[in-house]
Amino acid sequence: MKKLDVIKDPNPLLRTETEEVLSFDGEIQELIDDMIYTMRSADGIGLAAPQIGQRKKIIVAEYESPEKSEEDFPLIVIINPKIESVSDDEEFMIEGCLSFPGKELYILRPKKVKVTALDRWGKKYTIEDEKLLARVLQHEIDHLNGVLMIDHIKVIKTLFVGNGSLGLPALERITDDPQFQLLGVYTTSDRPAGRSGTPAPTLISELASKLKVKYYKVNDINAPNVVKQIKNLAPELIILADFSQIIAKEIISLPRYGVLNIHPSLLPKYRGPSPVVSTILNGDKKTGVTIIKLNEKVDAGDILSQLEIRIRPRETATDLKLRLAEFGADLLAETVPYYLADEIRPIVQKEEMASVTKKFSKVDGKISAGATPEQIDRMVRALNPWPGVYTEVNGKKIFITKSHLNKEKKLVIDAVKPEGKREMKYSEYSAGNKQLTFSG
Ligand code: ZN
Repeated sequence: MKKLDVIKDPNPLLRTETEEVLSFDGEIQELIDDMIYTMRSADGIGLAAPQIGQRKKIIVAEYESPEKSEEDFPLIVIINPKIESVSDDEEFMIEGCLSFPGKELYILRPKKVKVTALDRWGKKYTIEDEKLLARVLQHEIDHLNGVLMIDHIKVIKTLFVGNGSLGLPALERITDDPQFQLLGVYTTSDRPAGRSGTPAPTLISELASKLKVKYYKVNDINAPNVVKQIKNLAPELIILADFSQIIAKEIISLPRYGVLNIHPSLLPKYRGPSPVVSTILNGDKKTGVTIIKLNEKVDAGDILSQLEIRIRPRETATDLKLRLAEFGADLLAETVPYYLADEIRPIVQKEEMASVTKKFSKVDGKISAGATPEQIDRMVRALNPWPGVYTEVNGKKIFITKSHLNKEKKLVIDAVKPEGKREMKYSEYSAGNKQLTFSG
């Protein structure tokens, strides 16, 4: 027996019609054995001949869970199958496919099916099933007709709502994923940004425009005209990430699948506006990303999924946020099919474990008299580029933009930006100025 290569989508071989098997000779027996071996090696529960490049009506299937469930079925070889009947009642189920590694989709199919086929020796038999095997039979028989699971996808009409970098990979993913029909993007109107304070579009509106996705800039998403517009778009699901406005109940209750929120912390820890900055400031070793179902209380919705990651020793809030954004997009993509199929039991957040972060402002960047070198270094990693970390010399602000701790745990300043001037190496600054010193 040998392990055969399984063809991955897209490939025209997965789209061709197959021919009936007419003889049951040694060559066919060998092919069947190879298919069984290949399916088992790949940890699959079904394999159709077109997936290994053979235009023949052959399927092998088997499912034996370690804990023995009623979904189990023994090894079966299905040749020249014909669907005799299917039930009127349909159900949603998660499907995977060896030709789509890692992809899981939420698909609607008839619940029961009756199939006639030949076994590996050419003897006719009938299978009837209404559990997992019914699903596998329909999926694999599709393969014999050049039909793939993506052709059955249940498309969810989705709105995306967000402003900042945390939502960028998720928006990109939703735009690409055939499971979502992106109706549009809501983002906050251009707002003064950074130290200069010039009005700038949000990162999400820039990405939406690049992706050629319809987007709406709003000052208040809960304004009656905006709510009415969202109602008219009739989303089935809203995805929310890094949005500065609170979403009112009126909007939350509109989509049948509710609002899912990507939050960059291990909720219930660090609710509120600055979870990433706060975790760096506090010197945490780990953080994570959580998908919650939004309710009216800020960041307090039930948890659908959570992923923990380690914070790197020198990581800045900006870098950590970018990493969490990628993990958040992955986690969202993995969570949504299970959520839609109602296979996730949401976890209620433990209120007694909750903590709330604050919105930082310019004054939070001022180094206080008693700050330790470690605290200052964390501030530099957490509060740059905004609001910036500074000390005052003769009434002028000197921003510390880069620093590290040496072996003696003393603060080493690497770069500064004196108020109104450009960023420069600390050596350049200190050549013409008094050394910056911090007690503590
Ligand atoms: Zn398949």
